Amino acid sequence: MSGNRNVVVVGAGMAGLGAAYTLRKHGLDVTVFEASPDIGGRVTGKQIDGFHMDVGANVFLESYGTIRQLASELGVSLKRTPVPINGGVYRSGRFHGFYGGGSPASQLKTAGTFLQFRLLSPRGLRQALRFVKMLKARANDLSFDDHRRILDLDTGVSTTEFFESNFGTEVLERFIQPNLSSYTLGYPEEVGAAYAMVAAWDFGLNGGAWPCLPDGGPGVFVNALARACAEGGGGIRVSTPVDRIVLEDGAVRGVVTEAGFIEADAVVCATTATKALEIIPRLPSGIRDVLRRVTYSKCCRVFFGVDSSPFPTDWYAVAFPRETGALMTGMSDSAVMAPETVPEGRALVDALVIGRRAEELFALSDEEASQQVLAEIRNYFPTMARPLFTHVHRWDEAVCLAPGGMMTALDRMRGQDLADVRGLFLAGEYMGVPSTNGALRSGIDTAEDCAAFFSQPAGR
Ligand SMILES: Cc1cc2nc3c(=O)[nH]c(=O)nc-3n(C[C@H](O)[C@H](O)[C@H](O)COP(=O)(O)OP(=O)(O)OC[C@H]3O[C@@H](n4cnc5c(N)ncnc54)[C@H](O)[C@@H]3O)c2cc1C
Repeated sequence: MSGNRNVVVVGAGMAGLGAAYTLRKHGLDVTVFEASPDIGGRVTGKQIDGFHMDVGANVFLESYGTIRQLASELGVSLKRTPVPINGGVYRSGRFHGFYGGGSPASQLKTAGTFLQFRLLSPRGLRQALRFVKMLKARANDLSFDDHRRILDLDTGVSTTEFFESNFGTEVLERFIQPNLSSYTLGYPEEVGAAYAMVAAWDFGLNGGAWPCLPDGGPGVFVNALARACAEGGGGIRVSTPVDRIVLEDGAVRGVVTEAGFIEADAVVCATTATKALEIIPRLPSGIRDVLRRVTYSKCCRVFFGVDSSPFPTDWYAVAFPRETGALMTGMSDSAVMAPETVPEGRALVDALVIGRRAEELFALSDEEASQQVLAEIRNYFPTMARPLFTHVHRWDEAVCLAPGGMMTALDRMRGQDLADVRGLFLAGEYMGVPSTNGALRSGIDTAEDCAAFFSQPAGR
């Protein structure tokens, strides 16, 4: 492969870094332009008084094959979290404990509490069992590593429509919704059915939901990946937004930054779909129309550093099904899952508010937003201590929701309209199964497409 072909990658999130790393492996010259002062995109952390907060993605699942493979290549060790994921679901005026961990004893305990607090009626239980049976039959395809294996499930319907037609809404509201909303930060009406099936299976029902992280959190993996990208020469230029990707006569010419025009033989746009639409003004309508179908959840994440956790001993998280009307969708104590990120003996309460409720908080100051969330937490946990500090993070575009039919439309567009624009490649979570793993996979796959493009005699 010729080393003097130069590729610009726009965005240094999981997708952009995965693309840059793979392009370098092919011997190409790569420069990454990142708009913000930090790399990682939605994998990003913040430090306050010895507490480390992952304000974006905080969990890699054990089932994330692409991350595991690359972590082993980079020498980053991923560890299963040492403790069982215990917690509670709020219903009928109190929390009902669940006990994760995979051991037969804890599974029995989980089944016991399920029956004891009658999460589901016998009818709802039958709905759940039929759903699990359906997922089991497709277990090999329900993976964050390859969206192509689930395209036949992406029939254009939302998760709500899918449950209404196939299983019923009781299992949806009481069981699927709290899980799905904790993972996608969206509601079942917004999330496509195919994506929900992967999330439900991998994030709970297959038992492989165990978090598997580097010591110090996902940022450690991102930093190792960025170092590996930089080692091959070229570089990652932070605080350098790309204003425009220039297309002319059906081909990429380069990018425009504040410093002027930079010529490129190919450009990988690894931003969100929204940003791609903004910075590639001359996109053919076939691509533009499909990118407009990509939607994102909204989330306001509020952290409280406290002397002690308000939860019962050893509980990691609590969930609030939306029928409870709670402000939060879920809350966790990071000190349980990642003790090294919190000063010894202390707790870090992480509250997630999504959708319309998040937008209401966006309109408030940090102080007002955190006071509202704190007051709500105290409704459920009156012993919640006075915070040592609070931190509010607003995500206007949190996680791609892969609305019904989006994956199929993108896949078709990638093989048709996009292939007609020589030298332009798109990467990002929305081009895979939305997650850190899906973003990384999309970056690697796109880089392979780009390398194949250069190996054709006259380009694509
Ligand atoms: C609150 C929250 C919690 C989450 N939790 C999890 C989780 O636990 N597990 C999980 O797997 N996933 C989780 N996710 C989703 C996950 O973070 C994303 O799917 C993934 O990180 C997206 O990666 P990406 O590279 O596609 O996009 P991004 O990370 O958004 O990267 C795009 C990059 O492009 C840059 N950029 C944009 N415009 C320009 C421009 N004009 N010029 C140059 N650069 C530009 C941006 O600054 C950004 O760095 C979570 C997301 C959020 C917000």
